[in-house]
Amino acid sequence: MCGIFGYVGAEADTGDMVLQALKRLEYRGYDSWGVAVGVNGHIEIEKSVGKIGTAMLDLPASDIGFGHTRWATHGGVNYANAHPIRDSTGRIAVIHNGIIENFRSLRATLVEDGYHFVSDTDTEVVAHLVSKALGDSESPEAVRAAVAGAFMQLRGLNAIIILDRWSRTLTAVKHVSPLVVGRNGRGSFIASDTLALAGHADTVSYLEDYQLVQLSHIGIVSVDVRDSSPIP
Ligand code: GLU
Repeated sequence: MCGIFGYVGAEADTGDMVLQALKRLEYRGYDSWGVAVGVNGHIEIEKSVGKIGTAMLDLPASDIGFGHTRWATHGGVNYANAHPIRDSTGRIAVIHNGIIENFRSLRATLVEDGYHFVSDTDTEVVAHLVSKALGDSESPEAVRAAVAGAFMQLRGLNAIIILDRWSRTLTAVKHVSPLVVGRNGRGSFIASDTLALAGHADTVSYLEDYQLVQLSHIGIVSVDVRDSSPIP
């Protein structure tokens, strides 16, 4: 279990918005926390072990970002294992709720392929799987395909969200672990819990299992992760 909150839209104070929302979600996990924002073509991350408490962020203004409060299942409670977790290129960052039951075999294959792991989490396989599938593709469609391909390799009950700095998107998909999306006139939100969306979103909707959503500055795209068919 963990707390998740993400935003894409017209506001510039995304980092603080995410941190405040995470405080409401700390009952879901308080081993560590982290916030990532996309800024001028790169991703900046602040993470810390323990409760958020009175922490303040030193992140630049941004209109896209997400954050996570961790309930550690794989890997100790330390800085390296706190989410968000990057791929090796730094192009994407991942947050995750759940347990990837087959992460050992996925990790072994990725290591054989030359991928270097910096954490002990099961989550990190997602970062490398998506990165591997993406290559140099920049389009939001390519990101959806890469996230779908990675997700379909995971066993267990999982929700994953990927921040991609090139397409400036948040792409999420889930199986059993809850995710909810929300909107207001100035942007789109995603969270593990409607509590985090209170005061932000005018409309909310729970994701179905295998529903993939992609939040960007032009709105929300929603497809079935198994066959890419649109979900209204
Ligand atoms: N299994 C992941 C980890 O240990 C995610 C845990 C969570 O849901 O907070 O980092």
